Amino acid sequence: MNTNPDLIIDSLLTQLVKDKEKVLGYPVAQDFDYSRLNEFLKYPINNVGDPFEENTYKVQTHEMECEVVEFFAELFRADPKNHWGYVTNGGSESNLYGLYLARELYPKAMVYFSESTHYSVKKNIHLLNIPSITIRSQENGEIDYEDLENTLQFNRHKPAIILTTFGTTMMEAKDDVSKVKKILKKLAIQDHYIHCDAALSGSYGAFIEPRIPFDFKDGADSISISGHKFIGSPFPSGVIITKRSLRDRIARGISYIGSLDTTITGSRNGHSPLFLWYAIKKMGIAGLAKRFQHSLETAEYCKNELIKQGIKAWTNPGSITVVFPKVSDAIKGKWQLATDDDITHIICMPNVTKSQIDEFVKDIVLEKSTKEEVAVF
Ligand SMILES: *Cc1c(COP(=O)(O)O)cnc(C)c1O
Repeated sequence: MNTNPDLIIDSLLTQLVKDKEKVLGYPVAQDFDYSRLNEFLKYPINNVGDPFEENTYKVQTHEMECEVVEFFAELFRADPKNHWGYVTNGGSESNLYGLYLARELYPKAMVYFSESTHYSVKKNIHLLNIPSITIRSQENGEIDYEDLENTLQFNRHKPAIILTTFGTTMMEAKDDVSKVKKILKKLAIQDHYIHCDAALSGSYGAFIEPRIPFDFKDGADSISISGHKFIGSPFPSGVIITKRSLRDRIARGISYIGSLDTTITGSRNGHSPLFLWYAIKKMGIAGLAKRFQHSLETAEYCKNELIKQGIKAWTNPGSITVVFPKVSDAIKGKWQLATDDDITHIICMPNVTKSQIDEFVKDIVLEKSTKEEVAVF
C-alpha cells in the first residue's frame, strides 16, 4: 500500500476530477475560478467576532464579510437602517442562527415547518429544544397553507415561529411568505417570527418572474443561504441576514476578543467571506441574474428531453430542479442522483451543460431498450 502523502494526494486529485464530471443530483456550482486568491492560503485568516464591530485580532476579512452581508441584504430588500448578518459555515448554521434569534425573542413559542423542510432544521430545533409541529406539504412540495392555518388556529395563544423554505431539497418548492404573513394576521397572532430557509434559491430568488414572495419586504425576519451552492466555492459557506434590532437583543461583549459574541462559533473561516466577496464582485447583480437564466434554460431543456422519452418530468415555477420518477441504482450511482421515496431530480446548476443532459438521457434510453429486450426473450 502506498504511504507517500504526495502520491496519495495525486491519486485523490485524479479521483476528484473524475467524480466532479458527473454530479447532476446535488446543488453545487463548479464553474468557479478562485486561483487569483491562492496567495491567501498562506495566512491564518480568522474572522472571530462580530464582522461589524472592532476586533483585537487583525488577520481577518471583516470588511469583505460586511460587503457580502450588504449585497444580500439589498438583494433581499432588508431595511437599509436595520439589517445585520454574517458569513456562516453553511446554510445549516444560518438556519440555526435564525431559529436561535427567534427562540431568544419568543422563549415560549412553537415552531411550524412543513414535512419538506431540510433535515438540518429538525436537528436545529432539537438542539434549541423548541416545541414544534410538522405541517403537511402539498403535492409539489410547498407548505399546505390550509393545514398551517388550522394548526396555528389551534395554538393561537402561543407565539409562532414559522420556518418557510424557499427551494425545498427534492422539488425546489417555494413557500410563499406573504401567504404565511396573511394567515398570521387573520388569526391575530402578533408574536411571530418568520425564518426563510433559502439555501439554494435565495441567491436567485430576486430574479424569478413572476415573483414568489420570500424576502424582508414580504415579511421574513431572517433569511439563510448557502454560499457553495448557486454561487460556488471550494469549501462550504453560508450567509445569514437578519434585522440588527434582533441581533442587539442577544449581543454580549467579550473582552478576550475585544468584540461582541454575536456569532454561533468562535473562530470563523476568514477565507470564505473573501471568496464569496470575490465571486459577487466579479459577477455583479447582472451576472448573477444571467447565471440564473442559463440554469432555467438548461432545466427547461432537460425537462423536455425527458418528456420526449416518455418520462414524466416536471419543474416547480421558477425552479432549476427537474423532478421525475426514481431511476435505477446504476444510473443513480453514475450521475450521483439523490432519491427520495419514488422520485429523483436533476438540479441544473450553472455548470450543467446540455451535452451532460444528452448523455444522461442516452443512458436512460439505453437502459430502457435493454430491459425491453430482456422482457421479449
Ligand atoms: C442545502 C440546504 C440546507 C443546508 O445547507 P448547508 O449549506 O448544506 O449546511 C438547508 N436547507 C435547504 C433547503 C438546503 O437546500
